[in-house]
Amino acid sequence: MEKTLSGRSAVVTGSTSGIGLGIARMLAAAGAKVMLNGFGKPEDIAAAKHAIAEVCGGEEPHHSAADLSKAEEVREMVAEAEGALGKVDILVNNAGIQFTSPVADFPEDKWNAIIAINLSAVFHGTKAVLPGMKERNWGRIINIASAHGLVASPEKAAYVAAKHGVVGLTKVTAIELAQTGITCNAICPGFVRTPLAEVQVGAIAKAKGVSEDVALKDHLLAKQPSKRWVEVEEVARMALYVCGPDTGSLTGAALSLDGGWVAS
Ligand code: NAD
Repeated sequence: MEKTLSGRSAVVTGSTSGIGLGIARMLAAAGAKVMLNGFGKPEDIAAAKHAIAEVCGGEEPHHSAADLSKAEEVREMVAEAEGALGKVDILVNNAGIQFTSPVADFPEDKWNAIIAINLSAVFHGTKAVLPGMKERNWGRIINIASAHGLVASPEKAAYVAAKHGVVGLTKVTAIELAQTGITCNAICPGFVRTPLAEVQVGAIAKAKGVSEDVALKDHLLAKQPSKRWVEVEEVARMALYVCGPDTGSLTGAALSLDGGWVAS
């Protein structure tokens, strides 16, 4: 792959699995120095580090175990990255969690955790990287929102509120920085094929007594007109494009990658 990000340094939050790991791999393959973050079993974190080292043919990346539900740890993660990588040119705010319940019964602790990790961490991370990015007059902040940043579904009050908040924060950040070399964009995927998401297909098939194909197309992907998963690689390629050299005018966008979900 062309090393379009050679000399750039990136922090990808929640990159020990799923979409974050896919983005980290893509940025590393394009030549960026990457710092990982996220939870997981030691062997899973070791595997994620190994995967990055393999694509860039270099040494294993640094991993921050920061718990992004805590503002102080978000700030420490950015400081750690500035120490380990020398600077942070690219911040991908990707870490996120989900919990479903009708709003009337939504547990307060789950609400607080989702708002803290899915929304407030994006604010704290953005605030922490901006002084360095402004000094160098270059930066790419990419927030992994969701189709649920643009439209709602039942039983996802905290997630939908947080992701709509991320899209709003993206716009404010973008317009404040529009006359600098720093851009801020949100990527809004539909259902993405990750190990955790795939597990849901079997569970739905079992619960509804239908085939896995019916569970996928008629239930899980009921709102996704393409009737196929968005692939991690598609999200990662969009992130790479946003980081590219000729994308200075691309800012404040909520980039849908959802097989037609929010258009329908
Ligand atoms: P995932 O569960 O595979 O990965 C989530 C990552 O976040 C993991 O690395 C996990 O360790 C990390 N994380 C969770 N809580 C954390 C905390 N407190 N501090 C630090 N790290 C923490 O999930 P995924 O499907 O890859 O989702 C990644 C992002 O993409 C999320 O923001 C999610 O909302 C969004 N998204 C996912 C889908 C999908 O279909 N999978 C669709 C749209 C948007």
